[in-house]
Amino acid sequence: MFLPTIDPEKCEGCGECVDACPTGILELGEDNKARVTDPAECQGCETCVTVCPNEAVTLQEV
Ligand code: SF4
Ligand code: SF4
Repeated sequence: MFLPTIDPEKCEGCGECVDACPTGILELGEDNKARVTDPAECQGCETCVTVCPNEAVTLQEV
């Protein structure tokens, strides 16, 4: 299983990862930072890592 993590220090809330995630498990929170809603559904596709302009997303295999 894969676990995406968003670094709030680096995220600027552009929404690119939210729009690009094929399983729709990323959203922007009230603080305008991306967050993961349902990690169990992550496919480990790395799309979120690739599209983030700020290198805010890291993906771990757990
Ligand atoms: S690795 Fe893929 S499925 Fe998982 S959160 Fe990122 S874009 Fe979504
Ligand atoms: S693509 Fe990067 S900067 Fe944009 S919302 Fe996602 S984590 Fe934040």
